[in-house]
Amino acid sequence: MIIKLKPHTNPSDKYRFIEYLTDLGLEFHFSENSEAERIQVMANGKNIPWKEIKSRPIVDEILDSSNIYSMVHRNYKPENTVIELPGVTIGDGIPIVIAGPCAVENEAQILEIAHLVRNQGVKIMRGGAFKPRTSPYSFAGLEEKGLKLLAKARQETGVLIVTEVLDTRDVELVAEYSDIMQIGSRNMQNYKLLKALGRIDKPLLLKRGMSARLEEFLGSAEHIMSEGNSQIILCERGIRTFVEYTRNTLDLNVVPVIKNESHLPIIVDPSHGTGRRDIIESMSLAALAAGADGIMIEVHPHPEKAWSDPEQALSPDQFSHLMNHVNDFIEWRKTHALSPTRL
Ligand code: PEP
Ligand code: MN
Repeated sequence: MIIKLKPHTNPSDKYRFIEYLTDLGLEFHFSENSEAERIQVMANGKNIPWKEIKSRPIVDEILDSSNIYSMVHRNYKPENTVIELPGVTIGDGIPIVIAGPCAVENEAQILEIAHLVRNQGVKIMRGGAFKPRTSPYSFAGLEEKGLKLLAKARQETGVLIVTEVLDTRDVELVAEYSDIMQIGSRNMQNYKLLKALGRIDKPLLLKRGMSARLEEFLGSAEHIMSEGNSQIILCERGIRTFVEYTRNTLDLNVVPVIKNESHLPIIVDPSHGTGRRDIIESMSLAALAAGADGIMIEVHPHPEKAWSDPEQALSPDQFSHLMNHVNDFIEWRKTHALSPTRL
């Protein structure tokens, strides 16, 4: 539950109220950047005297949250979380594009892609150096060498880097080479990794688990945020359903639902969400129309030769076609608000 204080409370009343909550044995967090101050109270199975708390003159309202997540709830922070990176802002209402290969393969490949995406106006490049693969015999990434190649691409073109961290032991290493650290679907519920990333000061891209429900997805974001890091970008990347014509089913319903439920930005990955290059452009536009704060696209100079996920990589021409349409939408979006009202 969230306690909303009356606006412009005086510091000594606030101090006394905090003492009162502490005497009740409650654990709580203060929301930052809200026009009226909000306090998240962890129930931890305790019986909380809500009626008495509500009757305090300093209290404006008691607002709902979920038992699983409350700091990521909109009631804790009504304003959108906006993530500021050099030259690009995520979550301010204007969608962004992240693009790059599934995996870093070699220097020539990653440099070619970095130039290609940069020339299309993309500010953030993706590329895995640590790859979670279904088969132990598949290419699992160049690891530290791959990170160094990403750093070279960043230096040469100015693109920012998002790359996956698979293991708590690699957090420091990956943090050194990335602007945004990606938590893959398979690790969405690796709570030790989430907590470790919650303690660092770097934006994170949290991908939805392939069969994660809404509260599990937001619960994972809460694991991060409760450790202190609130720079979280959520990512819908498709869920497992009974359909066989796509790799996953892109759950675009979750976009407006999350925009209402949480202050965190959410982007969509139609590459993994479909697994089919022929429908990635349609689903990218659909994602943006649904209110996504951005899209993440896999692109490769020679898709048929990609070392991982070749069937969903766009060729440079296909990517350029997609970017023309996406840019038209982004221009339109600058002058048009989306409904529902909270978007
Ligand atoms: C990826 O984006 O590189 C990836 C492995 O995707 P996911 O974790 O969504 O399967
Ligand atoms: Mn991939």
